[in-house]
Amino acid sequence: MTVTKSTPEGSQLISHLTAVSRGHVRLDHAPRLPLAPGHVRVRVAYVGICHSDTAMVREGQGPFPARLGHEVSGIISESEDPKLPQGTRVAAYISDGYATEVQVPSERIIPLHPGCSLADAALSEPLACAIGGVEMLDLAGTPHAVLVGAGFMGLLALRLMVCRGLPVTVVEPRKRTRDLAISWGAEAALAPEEIPESMLADNPLVVEATGSPGGLELATSLAGIAGTLGILGYHQSGRGLRTVDMEAWNYRALRVLSLHHRSTGDVMRWMDRAQRLSANRVVVPSELVDRHVPLSELPELFMNGEKRDTVKSLLDLTSGVPE
Ligand SMILES: [Zn+2]
Repeated sequence: MTVTKSTPEGSQLISHLTAVSRGHVRLDHAPRLPLAPGHVRVRVAYVGICHSDTAMVREGQGPFPARLGHEVSGIISESEDPKLPQGTRVAAYISDGYATEVQVPSERIIPLHPGCSLADAALSEPLACAIGGVEMLDLAGTPHAVLVGAGFMGLLALRLMVCRGLPVTVVEPRKRTRDLAISWGAEAALAPEEIPESMLADNPLVVEATGSPGGLELATSLAGIAGTLGILGYHQSGRGLRTVDMEAWNYRALRVLSLHHRSTGDVMRWMDRAQRLSANRVVVPSELVDRHVPLSELPELFMNGEKRDTVKSLLDLTSGVPE
């Protein structure tokens, strides 16, 4: 691992990202501390680079300084818990994961199914969020769905709805991700300007997964009378403030659902399901990763932002070592 430095005495330093202030992050190097009671030590393999983290730094949503990174996989390197021995491949539900090594409370550890790769394990947290969101939709009586926004989270939700046999029409401006949506099972994928008049205010279920004011407006315009508008997008820009067409929500008697979850127990249960879905090749989020980022390049990504066409970046601490 190129970024793990040794002191002259040979005791290892742990490298981690610190968000310092609006638009600024840095790599810090700190000595390894003794293992805290009730914790295991995890050598981090991959961390999903989440838009909510990069946006938090870009938007200056402190408090700062802050540690970030909640999509984490790795291998246990030190443990006194007989149920979680050294060498166990795991996902960890933590919030300081952009690091070469972390200490994790045992109850925040999910041991992996042998078929789940460490890359998919890191992405079990976002897949868990999509699972929880889709679980909230009353799909049994839903004839079809529209998904607005086929970024990483949108594509995961698409795949889960497709696995239920639901026909899903995707609306997405980027051609490359429209093509990905078709390859992941969408019935049709339209650019916003291709939406026919007949599709407006005519859909029983619309899932918004853009996190943008325009996406929310578009999703509203597509939901029919007594339809469900599910909000999976994480609305962070502009301090999260949005203007909604309340008359349309009222007149069309929309059921508006936030598809987000904050119960640790629920998220961990769904992370376990997520890694099993990946192990069984039902939903394989690592197929959507289009960029592997070494730790040394992570600050630049945070400060300059992702390229527009990137679907998902993964911090890769494996240095090309096979699992
Ligand atoms: Zn995330």
